[in-house]
Amino acid sequence: MNPYEVLGVDRSASAEDIKKAYRTAAMKNHPDRNPGDHKAEERFKEVAGAYEVLSDPSRRDAFDRYGTTDAPGSASGMGGMHDIFSGFGLDDAMRAFMENFGFSSGGSGSRAVHGEDVSVRVNLDLEEAALGGRRDIEVERNVACGKCSGTGADATAGSDTCRQCNGAGKVSSIRNTLLGSFRTVNQCNVCNGRGTIPKKLCTGCKGRGFKSKKSTIAVDLPAGLSKGHYIRLRGQGHHPGQDGVPGDLKLLINSIDYGPFKREEDDLVYPLTISYPQAVLGGEFSVPTPDGDSIKVKVGSGTNSGTRFKHKHHGMGRLNRRGRGDLLVEVDIHVPSKVKRGDKELLKKLDESSSFQVKNR
Ligand SMILES: [Zn+2]
Ligand SMILES: [Zn+2]
Repeated sequence: MNPYEVLGVDRSASAEDIKKAYRTAAMKNHPDRNPGDHKAEERFKEVAGAYEVLSDPSRRDAFDRYGTTDAPGSASGMGGMHDIFSGFGLDDAMRAFMENFGFSSGGSGSRAVHGEDVSVRVNLDLEEAALGGRRDIEVERNVACGKCSGTGADATAGSDTCRQCNGAGKVSSIRNTLLGSFRTVNQCNVCNGRGTIPKKLCTGCKGRGFKSKKSTIAVDLPAGLSKGHYIRLRGQGHHPGQDGVPGDLKLLINSIDYGPFKREEDDLVYPLTISYPQAVLGGEFSVPTPDGDSIKVKVGSGTNSGTRFKHKHHGMGRLNRRGRGDLLVEVDIHVPSKVKRGDKELLKKLDESSSFQVKNR
């Protein structure tokens, strides 16, 4: 699916246009306006997912270039455009809608409290970017307190019935939206839907339900990543405590060191510098590959500067797809700024030879 198509905007649309299109589409398909219409609900989620992509410059850029916004094959097994839409729940869509249009998101149903995302920037070397790999990432994040399993309560002390909801865990309220007022049943925000209030707080976390902890997380990197891409590991971010759901860990590709290579989409270009006699006579040269080994490249006689020799499947891995790009060896003829006296004599002789004269000069 294409987020531009979902919102019905042009690829060159401004941020303002995108927001306008999102607002129109979201209001048209809003579940409050289309009760019981599952198609509208799906459409509403899609619209919110598309807006999430296009309102984030780095994700929009990644989609423009690679047709994807999320890297696949990550440790969570999530990724790709498909995931953006299918992973976007109705609650997420509702929350995004409310937040984007200036409403408090306090009344969007019985969704659990979400922890914050943790973002980590990583710099890749060529081999990791081309072939993928596994990285150990050090993160300091809030994890569920082991003593109370994240509830923040001392279970041995028992609990009282919540007075806000009389133990129901839910309260009904009037929600004001762009579309009018709606009566909704929401999770009780005093007891977080539990219906009970602990008599004593957990001493391990002082009732917060989480503790800060340093951890090392192994992350699988798919082949073919680019700068600006990120890998989302669901549920690996901060734990919010009190029965909440942890946020995500976002691994942002900060830079890639391509070494002597230049990247052109999935292809890699290696500049091979040779001498004028080598260009005229041809020869065999050793060229490095992103795999760490080298290949022999035959340069035919009479090769000009800028000529490219293609070595199939020695380039970057293709993100989201099978196979690899090519390695393009680009010949560059070196002209020395200084030559030895003996060489000068040889060059003069060569220049005097009529067969080496350039015609029509
Ligand atoms: Zn605790
Ligand atoms: Zn309550």
